[in-house]
Amino acid sequence: MTQSRVLITGGAGFLGSHLCERFLAAGSEVICMDNLITGAVENIEHLFSNRWFHFEQRDVTEYIHVTGKLDAILHFASPASPIDYLELPIQTLKVGSLGTHKALGLARAKGARFLLASTSEVYGDPLVHPQPESYWGNVNPVGPRGVYDEAKRFAEAMTFAYHRFHGVETRIVRIFNTYGPRMRLRDGRVLPAFMSQALAGEPLTVFGDGSQTRSFCFVDDLVEGIYRLLNSNETGPVNIGNPREMTILQFAEAVRQAVGSTSPIDFRPLPVDDPKIRQPDITRARAILGWEPKVSLEEGLQRTLAYFRPRVKSRQGA
Ligand code: UDP
Repeated sequence: MTQSRVLITGGAGFLGSHLCERFLAAGSEVICMDNLITGAVENIEHLFSNRWFHFEQRDVTEYIHVTGKLDAILHFASPASPIDYLELPIQTLKVGSLGTHKALGLARAKGARFLLASTSEVYGDPLVHPQPESYWGNVNPVGPRGVYDEAKRFAEAMTFAYHRFHGVETRIVRIFNTYGPRMRLRDGRVLPAFMSQALAGEPLTVFGDGSQTRSFCFVDDLVEGIYRLLNSNETGPVNIGNPREMTILQFAEAVRQAVGSTSPIDFRPLPVDDPKIRQPDITRARAILGWEPKVSLEEGLQRTLAYFRPRVKSRQGA
């Protein structure tokens, strides 16, 4: 199946904007919807001259209407960095719950396939390692991260209810830590933090003792996995991420090397409920989608650096 007319919510965000490009390149017409709370016009303005690209500034937690047919809806609208969802707890809960409901309702009305951007956060602070899709997770519902984790867990349940009860064709991708061009310089996630600090010659802020682990996937690999998932027949959740796991201290060192920086490490308190370990089990993605990541951390960091370097410079000059 190829999608000729696609709606991408959160299309002006980091992942959403890369997806807009991917679908345009595949010959689809793309409607990008975003309220620009955490997304940015800068991420999509290069697409404005493309007649197959349309942008609508809209809040998907309100009633959404799209004229004409839709073949697929990719629901990517949400604050996605811990500091964003700590600052926007109600919006985060609303977009995961009400926004998912609205987007599913639209998918049902249009007979469109629906893909939900879910997250490794549904596994919380995991007690199973690496995390397979069959793991139900270890989430604190009333902790500060609960607003994101529970919103996404609710979104998965709602997606499945629309599939079972209304017969909507649905897909769920569980996205692990992803990095690349168009992350916001100040979005608080570890890559923009370390890279902008290393480029500015400032200390790298490592939270806790830096022994917590993450596994980082370059955005192009992620987008390819999502594209394949949408076009597959798989209804169950699928992890997409890079299984190369490392400690945050090792990641700090990798960023320092990539930048050629000698910035010292500045240890800061560990945020509440910060998961201690995280690594995707991608057995299902390999088997079902024939997908696995191709871009090495070293290459991905260089490609991300090309994006960040001029932006950090212009911030310093400002
Ligand atoms: N982190 C850090 N320094 C920073 C930002 C984040 O040490 O300036 C740590 C954070 O505590 C977590 C990991 O890096 O253990 C990844 O954080 P991020 O916010 O990127 O994503 P998460 O995986 O926690 O959602």
